[in-house]
Amino acid sequence: MFYRLDETHDPKARSWVESANRDDSDFPIQNLPFGVFKRRGQHRAARVGVAIGDRVLDLYALQHRGMLAGEEVATACAAPSLNALMAAGAKARQSLRRRLHAILREDVSAGDRVGAEGHLVPQDDVDMLLPADVGDYTDFYASIFHATNVGKLFRPDNPLLPNYKYIPIGYHGRASSLVSSNTPVRRPSGQTHDGEEAPKFGPSNALDYELELGFFVSSGNTLGETIAIATAEEHIFGVCLLNDWSARDIQAWEYQPLGPFLGKSFATSLSPWVVTMEALAPFRVPGFARPQGDPRALPYLADPEDQFTGGLDLWLEASLVSPRMGDTGLAPLILGRSNFRDMYWTMAQMLTHHASNGCNLRPADLLASGTVSGSDKTARGCLLELTSRGKEPVTLPTGEQRKFLEDGDEVILRGYCQRDGFRRIGLGCCRGVILPAASR
Ligand code: CA
Repeated sequence: MFYRLDETHDPKARSWVESANRDDSDFPIQNLPFGVFKRRGQHRAARVGVAIGDRVLDLYALQHRGMLAGEEVATACAAPSLNALMAAGAKARQSLRRRLHAILREDVSAGDRVGAEGHLVPQDDVDMLLPADVGDYTDFYASIFHATNVGKLFRPDNPLLPNYKYIPIGYHGRASSLVSSNTPVRRPSGQTHDGEEAPKFGPSNALDYELELGFFVSSGNTLGETIAIATAEEHIFGVCLLNDWSARDIQAWEYQPLGPFLGKSFATSLSPWVVTMEALAPFRVPGFARPQGDPRALPYLADPEDQFTGGLDLWLEASLVSPRMGDTGLAPLILGRSNFRDMYWTMAQMLTHHASNGCNLRPADLLASGTVSGSDKTARGCLLELTSRGKEPVTLPTGEQRKFLEDGDEVILRGYCQRDGFRRIGLGCCRGVILPAASR
């Protein structure tokens, strides 16, 4: 594993920020994810922060107090996005993590504590922005369970296409319509075709979510060069939750022969906190064990280290609140719960494959895993799978039914890692409410 364990993973370490020590906090001192925030109601520029308990530590302010002096990435911490920090690469980031850990731990030096205390902002008082200015966004299809379930709905006799076990399948997504968590998502209109009459244009009637993990590129590669699988993880900054909203009726009519287009590009939501590869180090597991009879990955995608530790034991969860559930104070209904360790392809394989033709990946490019589903029926990462394309609606606690999303529905994604001997860390959440289609 490229990211070694050090004092920042010590499960006994506690923070002087008390809320970080609560068992249910996503952001204990062992996590330290980066994000970009604005204080609500103030006209200040966006700032880089790190989440600790229910607070944000303002890294711009820390840099200006000289508390990050000596850090290679000190000026990157004073930027209005994570791009510069992502570009800096792993060593500089690891050094910053150790410094932030020292500033936030219980046995902090008196000077550091006084220096940092004035620059902690309650998370309730900030708006979180997109973590980075993303140049390019690519979405993969790395869950064989998702690919098989979806394939069965469209091709019952031949669910998995012959390339699936050789190629990490992906498509180029749209960076301009990436939105931060809590941004409402407008129901798209588009062409649909029910198979009998001519296609028509109108609001999608099959709006869906996709429960995914996104990961950001740190250092990239020069155009024409490639990234070896053995070093691929050095090029990954960290992960976030990602909801690849999908209009299934638009998608079904447009996807052949070139793949997803307007059924996907109307919005993709991201969670605000990027959990670094360092923070995830205790939760690495072997890559997917291919069943007997499956082909081996081709040599450029095969690395013993990646097979041994390239997987990630990370739970993901999607839940839904209808307007009526919200009005009656009902808790969100969990629709699916899956684990990233069940992905057929590792993050390193996806990244290496992406650059294998010489395509240049750049710092802060966003790659996403594709819908994370498991073998179990409770582990399905979208409504298309869960309701068998609308044939088996989900019943909500109010008695309402859902084949697909309705206006006013809110989808909430969450993610976390936990393992005996380590502190649980979380990814926070990624939310979005569906707005009615625009009137024409
Ligand atoms: Ca997707």
